[in-house]
Amino acid sequence: MKVLFVEPHPDDIVLSAYFTIKKLYSTDEIYLASVSNSPDYAIRDSKRFCIHMGINFVETKMIPDIMLSNKITPQRYKSESNPYEYQIYEYSRRYPESIDNATALIADVVEQVKPDLFITCIGIGHPMHVVTRIASDRILGMSKNIHYFIEAPYWFRKYGERIVNYSKLARKSTYIPLKTEVDEKLDVFKTCYPTEVSILRFDRDNFYTHPECIFYNPSTL
Ligand SMILES: [Zn+2]
Repeated sequence: MKVLFVEPHPDDIVLSAYFTIKKLYSTDEIYLASVSNSPDYAIRDSKRFCIHMGINFVETKMIPDIMLSNKITPQRYKSESNPYEYQIYEYSRRYPESIDNATALIADVVEQVKPDLFITCIGIGHPMHVVTRIASDRILGMSKNIHYFIEAPYWFRKYGERIVNYSKLARKSTYIPLKTEVDEKLDVFKTCYPTEVSILRFDRDNFYTHPECIFYNPSTL
């Protein structure tokens, strides 16, 4: 089966689905495409990671990232009865151009790869993650062949738990890393994304031991 992963930024997949990819590797043909990058980072892509994992890197003309400082604050989520819907509504209103660009990019990748299964982020915290989710749903939302991964564990403490029911998600985990495996993921991250090591200032244990989860239709959770 052809499985296409689409990540908002180069590094989201290593953080969110490293062990999942390792598991799929033996049976599936895996592709990875990235949507955006900050212009500040001259060399930041997932090419090295794909070579390391033995999966296919899909070259894209990554679109400009949205500043993290433009995110909706967790306090704002908290006051909404449906924080997830609110987030989709608000970012659709604020960033129509980014959504159009991401939609065009993802449509192009899908046309190129023709995947049997498409996996993208659930859309939490960072505006570009939400944009990627909206764009993906525009293209594949009507299809049964779209799944979602829960992105970057470090978001979860601050943002994710306000948006989705984490205890339900955790039960559906595809992979819970063992303590002995955490260093492996850390090493791959450091080797493949040297410009990103500064994010390790976040709580390392939470970061790497967080369960990797992939779902179909999170709205039913
Ligand atoms: Zn990201």
